[in-house]
Amino acid sequence: MNTRVMDDPAKAMTPGLEASVGSEVCSPRPALPQPLVVVEDLARTFDVSAPWLNRVLERKPRQLLHAVDGVSFEIARGQTLALVGESGCGKSTVARLLVGLYAPTRGRFLFDGQDAHAAYASAQRRQLRRRIQMIFQDPYASLNPRWRVEDIVAEPLREHGLLNDAAALRERVGELLRSVGLSPHDMVKYPHQFSGGQRQRISIARALATRPDFLVCDEPTSALDVSVQAQVLNIMKDLQRQQGLTYLFISHNLAVVRHVSDQVGVMYLGRLVELADKRTLFTQPRHPYTRMLLDAIPKLHDTSRARTPVQGEVPNPLNPPSGCAFHPRCPHANARCKAERPVLQSMGGVRVACHAVQEGRI
Ligand code: SF4
Repeated sequence: MNTRVMDDPAKAMTPGLEASVGSEVCSPRPALPQPLVVVEDLARTFDVSAPWLNRVLERKPRQLLHAVDGVSFEIARGQTLALVGESGCGKSTVARLLVGLYAPTRGRFLFDGQDAHAAYASAQRRQLRRRIQMIFQDPYASLNPRWRVEDIVAEPLREHGLLNDAAALRERVGELLRSVGLSPHDMVKYPHQFSGGQRQRISIARALATRPDFLVCDEPTSALDVSVQAQVLNIMKDLQRQQGLTYLFISHNLAVVRHVSDQVGVMYLGRLVELADKRTLFTQPRHPYTRMLLDAIPKLHDTSRARTPVQGEVPNPLNPPSGCAFHPRCPHANARCKAERPVLQSMGGVRVACHAVQEGRI
């Protein structure tokens, strides 16, 4: 698990280990492995102003959209961090920042200790793009309908110059298709000959072609039928186990997140409001927004409790509320919440941005 979330790593030790540390024979503690992904104060602002002449004639000010505003997290190798939140909270913008589709306005992204955005802007970009791949939400739109599956899956191998021999390419494509539960014979078909779940498997096979370390998955199952979602998620989990993959998993669906994640970050209007390991987040949610999202999930083992739909609307991100952006929807809001924005603070291994939690009111 990500160790930076803990206030004090010693608290996580077993009693036996504590005893040996307290004894005279005190060997140095081994260095903790560096997380593969370190995101520090990442921000992205978009200028969504009307054209200059319209602004002058209509006397309108410039409009800036703070899509992501100071997000920080780490992901250890082989682990999955899920980012959840309602539509428009900035989670997909985080995904696009990490794969280099957007440059950050502020902050940085360290990948395996290297400044990724400096690398995206240099000659090292190809090597980094080989190690970081993305799976998109819509398998219908992300596969070229005029290409055979063989060409779709082989494209990254050709693009990165990893394999050029036709026979070797075909063999590798067959291997990749097998790894996602498809047949090598499927390589001669076109995308329209597959179901939605099979198309997403083809997308996953293509993303795995360059043997990446890190997969950024932007709502990979939300366009699929519920019955097919579990199959695709299980394939992703198996591949993670077999290949030691690290995932950033973007979703608005907490039931899906519960199935795949190790850590969960909850986003609201461009900021992280809670970051915790999965078990803690689902059993002891702290932030009122996290509680609201969890209350909206149907309870399998407690059918007597009715689910409470998510209350209220996400405010206009171009004109966010003062103080805590969640205060118009929060049952615990007070005057301080309306005036002062809470910062993400570490509390017993969980990071929460909420005055009421930090004051012990809830
Ligand atoms: Fe609610 Fe205040 Fe906490 Fe925001 S800071 S979530 S308004 S209690």
